[in-house]
Amino acid sequence: MVQDSIRILQAQGHKATRPRKLVLEILEEMDRPLSPYDIQGVLRQRGKYLNHVTIYRVLDILCSLNLAHKMLSSGGFVRCSLDMAEGCHRFMVCQHCGAIREFADKELCQGENEFARNFGFHAEHHHSELAGLCSRCYRK
Ligand SMILES: [Zn+2]
Ligand SMILES: [Zn+2]
Ligand SMILES: [Zn+2]
Repeated sequence: MVQDSIRILQAQGHKATRPRKLVLEILEEMDRPLSPYDIQGVLRQRGKYLNHVTIYRVLDILCSLNLAHKMLSSGGFVRCSLDMAEGCHRFMVCQHCGAIREFADKELCQGENEFARNFGFHAEHHHSELAGLCSRCYRK
């Protein structure tokens, strides 16, 4: 919920400014990956305006707090749908209907850390996305 996101913003020492609230509201409502231009377009339809730089900055902050994420495949932004999950937030993307499912798995992260360690690499973050078919599309 937007209210929860605003609470997290404030708890991390960020003010709940109008642009931040607007972007959070739109990400929450639209429920699909949006580019900064898409966000601007939705705002315009509602008679509101934010410039691109502002939208990018807001998205940067939201992503740094895990309140939103940038999709690897489309580059679009979505709001985070997980509460306090352990492990990096990742997505499964249905290539048929576009459905997105966010997940996090601590053990998957640990497995990847071990894998990297074999190369003498210290991993801190993991980014990955699964492309395929959601359960509904797969059944058809
Ligand atoms: Zn998330
Ligand atoms: Zn991870
Ligand atoms: Zn699907």
